[in-house]
Amino acid sequence: MKQTDLSLLEKLIAIPSSFPDEKRISLFIDEWVEKNVKCKKTTQRVDKDRENLIYTKGQKSKKTIMLVGHLDTISVAKGWKTEPFKAKVTGDKLFGLGAWDMKAGIYILLQTLKEFEPKNITLKVAFTVDEENYSIGAHKLIDDGYCNDVDFIIVPEPGFVHGDKGITIGRAGRATFTVIIKGVAVHGSYPEKGINAIEQARIFLNEIESLSFAHHKKLGFTKIFPRFIYSKANGFSVPDECEIELDSKLVIPDTPEEMKIKLQEAGQQMYRKRKIAFKPEISFKKRPTPFCSPYEIDMQDKYVKLCKETLDFFTGGAKLFYRDSVADECIFAERLGVPIVTIGPSGGNAHAKNEYVGISSVKRMCQVYLQVLQNLDRIEGKEWR
Ligand SMILES: [Zn+2]
Repeated sequence: MKQTDLSLLEKLIAIPSSFPDEKRISLFIDEWVEKNVKCKKTTQRVDKDRENLIYTKGQKSKKTIMLVGHLDTISVAKGWKTEPFKAKVTGDKLFGLGAWDMKAGIYILLQTLKEFEPKNITLKVAFTVDEENYSIGAHKLIDDGYCNDVDFIIVPEPGFVHGDKGITIGRAGRATFTVIIKGVAVHGSYPEKGINAIEQARIFLNEIESLSFAHHKKLGFTKIFPRFIYSKANGFSVPDECEIELDSKLVIPDTPEEMKIKLQEAGQQMYRKRKIAFKPEISFKKRPTPFCSPYEIDMQDKYVKLCKETLDFFTGGAKLFYRDSVADECIFAERLGVPIVTIGPSGGNAHAKNEYVGISSVKRMCQVYLQVLQNLDRIEGKEWR
């Protein structure tokens, strides 16, 4: 890799961008694009000091390919051996906060934007805020119509287990629920005369363990688990309310909405069969954006096949796979209904101390992205096989 190439990635790492503080990195990227690329630039205000960036190259054409990256990282984890905002190279590894997730991805997208000259397709490169939080940036990008013309999306998120050989074609969804379980408070000297909300919550949690959930051949079962529980009695008394937070990993065909209905029906049943004294109140945990549904892209999709062939060529064995966790891809897949794949570099320790990315892998990914676009551009000029 050329020295100048590495220095761009080093500069990206040197700019702290943990959400919601993406302003500095978006200014840096905008200046870099201004200096290095001839393209149409759009800045989309998402919130105060928070902007999505959209760059467009190519004439109005039949097909638009969008590459999307996120500007934010999580905050610094404890225990770093090196300075998180100073890239440190050891062998083929480049350490730094966000190196893998996903400043290397931003780097790959910027290089691609610079190098690729479309003839038959339109290229959009978008950078969003808030991916590591509520995905406000991705929703806003779609809300304001910036994705209306998009036919295919590629995201350079980490490929995790398969490193740079992995092509993610599906993901699990997620939803979090707040459950309020009621009881009847009485004096603690005769607790049996009241209804203890904590005991009621225990029954509720036991009961939902026996519910049956969706199973998907690649994503496994939908799973639900309590991750927060709170109740407090007033002095020497039996508590009359208990709050539970239930988290869930959702697999196809479960959706957040269906999951909520399933839980509400289960609560209703428990109440009807007098297993618990009051009907539980079950709602989505409050947040500014909706929870994500799981998705999968058809392996036979022409764009997926083209990406696989190209990645095969560079890595000698691309792997189509599913990820267990949510990301902005879930939002694009669900809301736009267009094919989307994740292809990213190899690395390690995402969302943890001593995060790194593979340097040779980043270099390879730049070639992969450029080649995928050139292949798409050529094919779009003729006919799909
Ligand atoms: Zn990420």
